[in-house]
Amino acid sequence: MKSKRCDNEEYTMKNAVITGSTSGIGQGMARALAMAGYAVVLNGFGDAAAIEADRQALADAAGVPVLYHGADMTQPEQIADLVAYATRELGSVDILVNNAGVQHVAPIEDFPAAKWEQILAINLSSVFYSIQAAVPGMKQRGWGRIINLASAHALVASPYKVAYVAAKHGVAGITKTVALELAEAGITCNAICPGYVKTPLVEHQIADTARARGISEEDVRRDVLLKAQPTRQFTTVEEIGALTVFLASEAARNMTGSLLSMDGGWTAQ
Ligand code: NAD
Repeated sequence: MKSKRCDNEEYTMKNAVITGSTSGIGQGMARALAMAGYAVVLNGFGDAAAIEADRQALADAAGVPVLYHGADMTQPEQIADLVAYATRELGSVDILVNNAGVQHVAPIEDFPAAKWEQILAINLSSVFYSIQAAVPGMKQRGWGRIINLASAHALVASPYKVAYVAAKHGVAGITKTVALELAEAGITCNAICPGYVKTPLVEHQIADTARARGISEEDVRRDVLLKAQPTRQFTTVEEIGALTVFLASEAARNMTGSLLSMDGGWTAQ
């Protein structure tokens, strides 16, 4: 497909699929890619009318095709269908962003087995299945970018997050393995490892924690949430979007197998 935003007739638009992009970080990465001229396929759960309104608004703002597919990342056949849909509608999946993720916090002896299975399916296995579906097309074209949204928890642990930490360490392993397998195929595979990111999820957590502990929201930010981050600053979805656009670019051609921290110094300690 030719880009409406590009005057060069020879330029063929590249297409991106971003899992879990109806909210938070995924939405920010989809926005950044669309504004940089990539066609995007959104994915994720939420209110159908709100998703459609966001899809249309992004298409209007960016002037690129913006599509939506509602695949459930726990279902391998739906993940394959997401990649097939994007390929059918746009012609290719050149950039695959694996972002969908969920969290559950509990001590290991109380950790519900169903939550363990769900977190491993969404945060880890979906990364395997989507890469498996997208790689043949990327190989055929000799070009691809796989960007996995991991976490500081791909590198270090925190208590009570056994499934999340195990899954994100697994994502780090997939990232490095796939990078090696595809090193000579023109396809890179990298992971972004944020610390705390201000998404609606975290914003609610701040207000709730302040109420529960009887301290100010500023105290919650500094002394509770950002205790692990030396900068005492959140990473923003726009910053993650900018790194995503860079990883998708030609300039990142020789970066692969990297775990890129955006964590305010958390994992430097
Ligand atoms: P979020 O809850 O705002 O967004 C999660 C997205 O995943 C939503 O679009 C949701 O609909 C989608 N999703 C959930 N289950 C799904 C399923 N079964 N199938 C398809 N889509 C599904 O969360 P976020 O904070 O934006 O997190 C996005 C990613 O970033 C996750 O992988 C998370 O682990 C990671 N991360 C978040 C932070 C943070 O502080 N927010 C830090 C490090 C890493």
